[in-house]
Amino acid sequence: MAMKKILFDSHTHINAEGYTEEERTALKDRIEASAVAYVVDVGFDLPSSRIAARNALERAWCFAAVGVHPHDAQTLTDEGLAELRGLVGASGKADGTDGTDDIGGAAGTGRTGASGVVAIGEIGLDYYRDLSPRDVQQEAFRRQIRLALEVCAPITIHDRDSAGDTIRILKEEGAFSEARRAAFPANPMTGVPDARVLLHCFSGSAEQALDYIKLGCTISIAGPVTYKNNKKTVLAAEEIPLAHMLIETDAPYLTPEPLRGTPNESPNVEYVCRKIADLRGVPYEEIADATRENALRFFGI
Ligand SMILES: [Zn+2]
Repeated sequence: MAMKKILFDSHTHINAEGYTEEERTALKDRIEASAVAYVVDVGFDLPSSRIAARNALERAWCFAAVGVHPHDAQTLTDEGLAELRGLVGASGKADGTDGTDDIGGAAGTGRTGASGVVAIGEIGLDYYRDLSPRDVQQEAFRRQIRLALEVCAPITIHDRDSAGDTIRILKEEGAFSEARRAAFPANPMTGVPDARVLLHCFSGSAEQALDYIKLGCTISIAGPVTYKNNKKTVLAAEEIPLAHMLIETDAPYLTPEPLRGTPNESPNVEYVCRKIADLRGVPYEEIADATRENALRFFGI
C-alpha cells in the first residue's frame, strides 16, 4: 500500500552524533518509506552542519539548516562563521554571495538553490544547561543572526529559559526590522508580517506565542505536547493560529507518547500531528496539510 506522504518534520537531527553511516542510511530509508514528505536536518555545530548539508544533497526530501547551537557557542570561530556562510551562501544566492548584496536577494525566489540549505540554525540561547558562558552564547547568537540577515535566510531558534534575552537580541540585531519583514511576503492566511524566525520546540505560553507571532515569528510544536502534565504546550497548541504553526520531532530527542522511552525518529512527527488535531477537534490531514504548506513557505522550498 502506498503511503500518503503528507508530513513536514521541520526540525530533526539525522546528523546526530552516535549514528554510524550505515545507521544513518537506514534511518533515511525509513523516513523515505514513511508518511514524512520533507524534513529539515538541523545543524548544531560545524560537523553536524556539514552532514546536514550532505544529507540535503543526497535526498530530495531532505533540507538542511546550518548553525552552531548555544551549547557549542565557544566553537564558533571566524573560520567557522565563514564556512557557515559558504554552506548557506552556496544555496542562498544565485550569484554566489559576497555579503554586499541588498537584503532580499534570496527572498521570494522559492527554493534557494540546488544544495538544499534553507536556513541558519539552530542558534539561540540556553540558560537551562548553560554549557557555554552566557556572554559567549550571546555573541555567537548575534553573529549568526547577522549572517542570516546578510544572506536573507530563515532562522531556527533554540531558546531554553532565555526567552527575554532571545527576543531582545533578535530585536537589537534587526531580525524583526521593517527591512527584514519586507524581504518576505506577509502570511497569506492572516496578513501578519513574516520575519522568517522559527521558535523551535516552543515551550512558552499561548499568550507569549501570540506576541511572538505579531513580531513575525513562526511557532513549532514538538513531542512534549503529547506529555501528561504539559498543560502549557497543550494550551499553546490549541490557541496558536494554524497559519503560523509548524510541527517537528527534534529527533532523536523528545520522543512523543506513546513511544516515549525509545529513540525518536522523523516518522514519529505523526504523533505530534495527531495530538494537535485531537486537541483542536479537526482531522489529522488538516493539520498535516497546513503545517506542511506553512513549512514549505517558511523555508522557501
Ligand atoms: Zn534540535
